Amino acid sequence: MKNTVLVSGGAGFIGSHVSVELIEAGFDIVVADNFSNCDLTCFKGVKKITGRDDIPLEVMDFCDASATKALFAKYPIDAVIHFAAFKAVGESVQEPVMYYKNNLLSFLNVLEAAQDKGGCNVLFSSSATVYGEPDKVPVTEETPRKPAASPYGNTKKMCEDILQDCVKASNGAIKGILLRYFNPIGAHPSALIGELPRGVPNNLVPFITQTAVGKRECLNIFGNDYPTPDGTCLRDYIDIVDLAKAHVCAVKRMLDGKMAQPCEVFNIGTGRPLSVLELVNAFEKVNGVKLNYRFAPRREGDVTAIWADPAKANEQMGWKATRSIEETLKAAWAWECHLKTTYGNE
Ligand code: UDP
Repeated sequence: MKNTVLVSGGAGFIGSHVSVELIEAGFDIVVADNFSNCDLTCFKGVKKITGRDDIPLEVMDFCDASATKALFAKYPIDAVIHFAAFKAVGESVQEPVMYYKNNLLSFLNVLEAAQDKGGCNVLFSSSATVYGEPDKVPVTEETPRKPAASPYGNTKKMCEDILQDCVKASNGAIKGILLRYFNPIGAHPSALIGELPRGVPNNLVPFITQTAVGKRECLNIFGNDYPTPDGTCLRDYIDIVDLAKAHVCAVKRMLDGKMAQPCEVFNIGTGRPLSVLELVNAFEKVNGVKLNYRFAPRREGDVTAIWADPAKANEQMGWKATRSIEETLKAAWAWECHLKTTYGNE
């Protein structure tokens, strides 16, 4: 019998790529989303890529406890991957109550529903933001977490703690994996799914592709006076398909009883630091486009340098990032061009 995985927030950027990889790995999935920050584009893309027209889609909000319970009653859920959350750092500073309410309540409802049905395997999508400005790079899973720089970051940290506590209290009924993502970028090689930011993108790569396609006039590179080789920040950019495959490895690890502890943490990154300027140069080179950019003041809250030590995920989960930055940036550009062909430069 196939195992069923619930993908909360499954119609979004990361959720849609994970959905494809889960289906391709032989899982049944249920996608649930309230479409607060996406439309049907990526869900339709998932169906097209996988050739599956029968993927269950539940339009619902995980902040609704009874709807969440009903969902767990309706499907034989073996594992849940929880993506459904708000993710804009700046907005979270402006609207902390909205962020805490949405991101914590939705996760608490998932955990309560999982508890009520006697247990579940829970995978939480966390972030390298929990490490703050690390004292030492690369960061391992043992690197101490720092106080969060934003309510958004704090919700990630708090959800990590909540899951750890629930696992501890559950006597083995709830198992947890926390995946700490570094900087997910790119798009599926089919160019049928990718990132669809609403309004002006906050993240670097969507801003780059939108500038290259003519939607934005100029990319601001935030700060060129950091203590790094070229003065711009260093990050660990991880291909979205590689990142999605890490979820398949994690789900299998939980279902196959391979976990070393009932709640585990893994860094999901490449281990390769890249500066903003190196990324911009690579984008121009691999896609043969000229990018209009200028240096601008530092952005508040940015850390100078962070990248992963992915050894634990490599060794214990058998997962490794395989796609080159060139492939990734090609895919990001192909997706932006696909959007232009489909929707024009709105
Ligand atoms: N960045 C930039 N211009 C932009 C967006 C981002 O120079 O328009 C820089 C940002 O300062 C950081 C890096 O790109 O050094 C990655 O930022 P992003 O927001 O994509 O991810 P973060 O690392 O903040 O989670």
